[in-house]
Amino acid sequence: MTFQTFLIKYGEIGIKGKNRYMFEDALVRQIRHSLRDVEGSFHVHKCQGRIYVDCEGYYDYDEAVESLKRVFGIVGICPVVRIEVKEYEELKKDVVAYMDEAYPDKNITFKVESRRAKKTYPVNSMEINCGLGEAILDAFPEIRVDVHNPDVLLNVEIREEVYIYSQIIPGPGGMPIGTNGKAMLLLSGGIDSPVAGYMVAKRGVGLEATYFHAPPYTSERAKQKVVDLAKKLAKYTGPIRLNVVNFTDIQLAIYDKCPHDELTIIMRRYMMKIAEYFADQSGCLGLITGESIGQVASQTMQSLLVTNEVCHLPVFRPLIGFDKQEIVDISEKIDTYETSIQPFEDCCTIFVAKHPVTKPKLDVIKRSEQRLSEDIDRLFEEAVNSVEVIIAE
Ligand code: ATP
Ligand code: MG
Repeated sequence: MTFQTFLIKYGEIGIKGKNRYMFEDALVRQIRHSLRDVEGSFHVHKCQGRIYVDCEGYYDYDEAVESLKRVFGIVGICPVVRIEVKEYEELKKDVVAYMDEAYPDKNITFKVESRRAKKTYPVNSMEINCGLGEAILDAFPEIRVDVHNPDVLLNVEIREEVYIYSQIIPGPGGMPIGTNGKAMLLLSGGIDSPVAGYMVAKRGVGLEATYFHAPPYTSERAKQKVVDLAKKLAKYTGPIRLNVVNFTDIQLAIYDKCPHDELTIIMRRYMMKIAEYFADQSGCLGLITGESIGQVASQTMQSLLVTNEVCHLPVFRPLIGFDKQEIVDISEKIDTYETSIQPFEDCCTIFVAKHPVTKPKLDVIKRSEQRLSEDIDRLFEEAVNSVEVIIAE
């Protein structure tokens, strides 16, 4: 079957009053962006409180649907058969043909729901419901009507053209990107942080990202893996500005001067500080990490408290109560898992102590950090000034 249009269903939450207009415009923008690289020509427009994607001529249906399934804010995607307005008896034949093709197995229940937006059409919607229902029942003996809980809700809308649709392909839900500001994701090459970014972005928050690498202790391949992950996320969010920070000298200084069981926690504090520096520069309203309580030593309640202490921005940790398997399930769903498990070292694994502190005390950590005081301002400045910016899209 060929569909000429998609009707886009979106959630109603948070889009009342003045926000509705902003929400819809952002959704239209994101839909256009997502279809940019799909073969075909698409016209995305708002009409009477709805969003339509009209597809002109040949287009790649599967790709178009895949792209729309990545647009936050979309709750359902309805592929529509669009035909010209015709005389009632002819319309019945077309609707019967639609049912025949869409549902080869006729052992189903259905209900017709029609709308007559074009008031000059000579038959009203009640009559259309009955007439089309009868025509379908006459054509297919096994099919039955169920007005309360039908398997198939067949929508027929008479507008400038007739729109026929009955399928709803689920969208990702959430809110369109750009309706809730932006946040800075600390993106490593692991499984967790891409999922964390996805979850915050789903609520309409645009993403920027910061990655810390430690050449030559970490390789180009490890960095490329993070760029690849940012690209995977960008399929949902639009282009992501990725700051690649050379963290080697800071790590070496910490390694040199601080107790080894505190390396990870002190390093995490500097990561947060630097990420926050870039967040402030570009107007991000929060930081995002992939931390989850108790997953590793640096993610105990005590460690999170000590890490958090360096930041003035809120730190969003959407995975905080998730088990690893739950995170893995999402990473598979959003297609970051395969990239995340590629075996390239990240900068934390090289400088880890055998027995890191699991219950760091803030005053103890701060005292250890004083040993860096001579060099740290300069190292911090060098790190942020030598940032490499990559636009992942
Ligand atoms: P992930 O799977 O996201 O790498 P993880 O389980 O390896 O997480 P940690 O290494 O403790 O956990 O990192 C916790 C969080 O800190 C990560 O989720 C990420 O947000 C951030 N982070 C860790 N290493 C880096 C890095 N090299 N660059 C940027 N952010 C990082
Ligand atoms: Mg990691």
